[in-house]
Amino acid sequence: MTKPDLIYETIILGSGPAGLTAAIYAARSRCCPLLIHGRQPGGQLTTTTAVDNFPGFAAGIEGPELMEQMRLQAERFGTNFVEGEVTKVDLQERPFRIWLGEELYRCLSLVISTGASPKLLGLGNEESLYGRGVSVCATCDGFFYRDREVVVVGGGDTAMEEAVFLTRFASKVTVVHRRESLRATPVLAERALTNKAIHFIWDAELSEIVADTSGVTGVKIKNLKTAEESELTCDGVFIAIGHQPNTALFEGQLEMDNEGYLLTKNGTETNVTGVFAAGDVQDQQFRQAVTAAGTGCMAAIQAERFLDDLPYDASLSCQKGVCKTKD
Ligand code: NAP
Repeated sequence: MTKPDLIYETIILGSGPAGLTAAIYAARSRCCPLLIHGRQPGGQLTTTTAVDNFPGFAAGIEGPELMEQMRLQAERFGTNFVEGEVTKVDLQERPFRIWLGEELYRCLSLVISTGASPKLLGLGNEESLYGRGVSVCATCDGFFYRDREVVVVGGGDTAMEEAVFLTRFASKVTVVHRRESLRATPVLAERALTNKAIHFIWDAELSEIVADTSGVTGVKIKNLKTAEESELTCDGVFIAIGHQPNTALFEGQLEMDNEGYLLTKNGTETNVTGVFAAGDVQDQQFRQAVTAAGTGCMAAIQAERFLDDLPYDASLSCQKGVCKTKD
């Protein structure tokens, strides 16, 4: 369904902490923004259990509950929500155009907070074991592995950081890496290699995650040089093999780094004036809910200032953040 006469002042793509915080700020400041949920409503936090490090929740909060509260807060100030995944964008012309299949939406400013997806190993039961022994975030879930045995997969900075972090809780941390040298930067590699609580299994990959009805009980490991298989009992598997920013939609329209993360300057500005990027889609360093929320706030404020500076357009009549083209 196309509504050619409607132009939103702000459209927000993505419903993680960045997108919902942008919506709270945008909705409170002037415009009833339109937020398009994306593939995973609530974003990555809906795949974790307790979130203990989001300020304001002394007793912790479940990831899905935190996202639901943010959604209700955005709704309270007038955010409009649309379910679905954007299939195409055109940022070359103004107003910007956003398609969900056949449905076209237009806007004067755009906040992109489509996030990043953790890369997975491609093992059958990996995703169904999320929250029951499989995790992609030691900062989020490490606490639950006190005195337990865990496996970390990967040889980059994230894997090393997660392995070191997990030694605070776990009784045993085993890193499984597919080569015999680490990709991680020397400082982080050294920190992990010299930590006596971390064991390394080199030239190896997981061929299976073994689980029973209560969750992960072990992993099967294949040596890539000898093809030998072995089994290791463990309570948790942390997959730390990198993230993929969700930016395929913007290829050729927005500047990205070599990994596909959107490039921003002066806070959240992209190379297209009026288009702002917030959260993991432009941050491969911190990737925390609170930093995503912070950049979401920045994006909404910058969008607001951008809208304020737009020249008056007599062909538009604006009401509550949604403009109608005058006949
Ligand atoms: P990364 O650097 O891309 O490393 C991914 C690791 O996973 C590599 O060791 C890779 O093996 C392995 N891997 C990839 N696909 C795999 C698969 N299918 N099966 C098994 N192993 C697989 O990702 P990252 O560690 O998340 O780091 C991303 C970026 O963030 C980097 O630029 C990093 O420097 C930065 N970062 C910085 C910090 C910090 O400075 N404190 C902390 C975290 C991340 P190979 O080595 O064989 O390719």
